[in-house]
Amino acid sequence: MTEETKNATHFGEDVFGDEAIKTYLSKDTAKKLQATIREGKPLDPSIAGEVAHGIRHWAMDRGATHYTHWFLPMTGSTAEKHDSFLELKDGEPIMQFSGKNLIVGEPDASSFPSGGIRSTFEARGYTAWDPTSPAFIKRHSNGATLCIPTAFCAYTGESLDKKAPLLRSMQALDRSLKRLMKLFGRDEAHTGCTLGAEQEYFLVDKEYWRKRPDLVLTGRTLFGAPSAKGQQLEDHYFGTIPDRVLSFMNDVERELWKLGIPAKTRHNEVAPAQFELAPQFEELNLASDHNMLVMDTLRNVAERHGLKCLLHEKPYAGVNGSGKHNNWSVAYGGKNLLDPGSDPHENAVFLTMLCAVIEAVDKHADLLRASVASAGNDHRLGANEAPPAVISIYVGDQLAEVLERIENPKSGKHLAKGTLKIGVDTLPAIPKDATDRNRTSPFAFTGNKFEFRAPGSSVCCSGPMTVLNTIVAEAVDRIAGELEASGTAGKAKPGEHTAAFHAALQSILQRSLKAHKRVVFNGNGYEADWPKEAAKRGLPNASDTPSALAALARKENAVLFEKYGVMTARELESRHDIFLEEYAKKVRIEGNTALDIARTMILPAVRSEYVEAARAYNETDASNVKVAIDMLHGQVTELASGLVDLKDAIDYLHDALKNCDTADILARMSELRQVADALEQIVADEKWPLPKYREMLFLY
Ligand code: ADP
Ligand code: MG
Repeated sequence: MTEETKNATHFGEDVFGDEAIKTYLSKDTAKKLQATIREGKPLDPSIAGEVAHGIRHWAMDRGATHYTHWFLPMTGSTAEKHDSFLELKDGEPIMQFSGKNLIVGEPDASSFPSGGIRSTFEARGYTAWDPTSPAFIKRHSNGATLCIPTAFCAYTGESLDKKAPLLRSMQALDRSLKRLMKLFGRDEAHTGCTLGAEQEYFLVDKEYWRKRPDLVLTGRTLFGAPSAKGQQLEDHYFGTIPDRVLSFMNDVERELWKLGIPAKTRHNEVAPAQFELAPQFEELNLASDHNMLVMDTLRNVAERHGLKCLLHEKPYAGVNGSGKHNNWSVAYGGKNLLDPGSDPHENAVFLTMLCAVIEAVDKHADLLRASVASAGNDHRLGANEAPPAVISIYVGDQLAEVLERIENPKSGKHLAKGTLKIGVDTLPAIPKDATDRNRTSPFAFTGNKFEFRAPGSSVCCSGPMTVLNTIVAEAVDRIAGELEASGTAGKAKPGEHTAAFHAALQSILQRSLKAHKRVVFNGNGYEADWPKEAAKRGLPNASDTPSALAALARKENAVLFEKYGVMTARELESRHDIFLEEYAKKVRIEGNTALDIARTMILPAVRSEYVEAARAYNETDASNVKVAIDMLHGQVTELASGLVDLKDAIDYLHDALKNCDTADILARMSELRQVADALEQIVADEKWPLPKYREMLFLY
């Protein structure tokens, strides 16, 4: 890093990275630690003591007095339990941090969801240092804490978190790619997955937020009539960023840079008061941790600006919700395998990877769908603002033609251009033009990476990325197996493959494409016809979380995760149970919140409006001037019937909440909302107890 960059950004100042390692550790230890980090190897225990000592000094120089193992429990947020460096030795206070404290922690884990993996009588959990994600400093207004990213598991070794499966899935993909790339004559190298997570969010003034129990308790508005002006004018997207928001963004970015997170892009999103932050992509595990810190930082900094950051997928009905686009790619020996190459040999690798991804996504669309299932995301997927719940792949017209030419060498339509021989022909240039983006596809090829657009704004990236790595590992492994069986690979060096090898590869890819091309869809995913067409093609369409999560209970999926060493059947089952339960709990919390607001805030306001209208009617009736009597009668009647409907809807929701039928609760909530939102539009503004959309959505 140049001095100029360092001074302008303070980049990485709060991360125990290369520079700190060199300053605080001996040369020998530094070298060993760096090798561990680079190659993702376990830490050499003989250096743990010195590393811990160095990290502590570095952290204390930055004002830290405490440390914590920072981990990703199944709740979907991050967890930390702080311990101070302070210890008493012979009655004297000293500061200490041992190698053991760095490498393992033993938090009492009984209150984290385990899906039955860990019963409370054996509540011990372990956190284990993940050196591939560097330690960092978390600052607060009067101090700082050293955070050590860790994986969290039960006494039995079973994973209780979202990090271990991600790391295992990266290893699975690495194994498969080593097998494949060997056949291509490549020297053994390290597989590097990359992730760039674009993060969408809303900002709302904290004063409004405080007055909305629904936002406070559920993260989304359960009531609210549309604002006359919403996103119709399409004037917010990429619009001038309001000064208040820009100063918030500046603070956020400064904090992220200190944490070594390369925040890069910021802009207004489609909905009013909606924004996006995109970092430059990084190694997947690190990027996934970094996204958790991005969400934390957005929330914390918002507080200081009198704002609240809403990371819910659908805070407001009627305007766009928020997603988290996961841009994913995979490199081998530093070379991006999803980058169409410049020569026939590189093209062959690229096309193999492309076909592998298509095969993986088609075979396991159900798992990808499950990986983005949540109560919040249910309101977003398929609502014409985000991709539908049908998982399909967009590859663009040019690549679609390339695929067709691979699949049908004799296809009449393309005869003029000739067939495409893998390993012999070069590809036509595939433009990476930003205008050629299909924003309606859940899974789009965008030049040299795939963009998985279905994840919701609050999801932890590791879930969807674990699935993606695993299913691609399987497809690559299968293709490599067929290539091996063809006996054509020999010991060729790159570029020296025989025609037989290329012919074998071509026919393997042809077969794969024939079987899986139904998942390729280059049209408009928002069109009403697409789900019908998708159904004809036999593509699954799980419209809500419970039906999507069923994928995690399918036997063949347990077999897949076990085969690739990503999750045991029990680990998968526990996730199924945890997510399903979390969904049911969230819906219940929403139902109870809606009930409470309707009973104690909305109903009294409507009743008071009604009483006032009735009084005006009675007084007019008793007076000599009766010109307005019909109008007043109309008003009283409208309010009276609204009041009755409101009470009925409240009672229905109350009844629904007595049972566990989430679909019923959601349906009753939505009926109640309809009645309440209509009343909001006729009750006096001063009486309405909740801040309105038109107030909350505009931050100017
Ligand atoms: P948009 O989708 O908004 O047009 P960009 O093309 O700028 O955005 O890319 C979005 C994200 O994709 C950024 O975070 C960028 O760093 C990331 N990205 C670019 N190349 C790769 C890659 N090879 N692997 C993973 N992410 C990548
Ligand atoms: Mg994008």
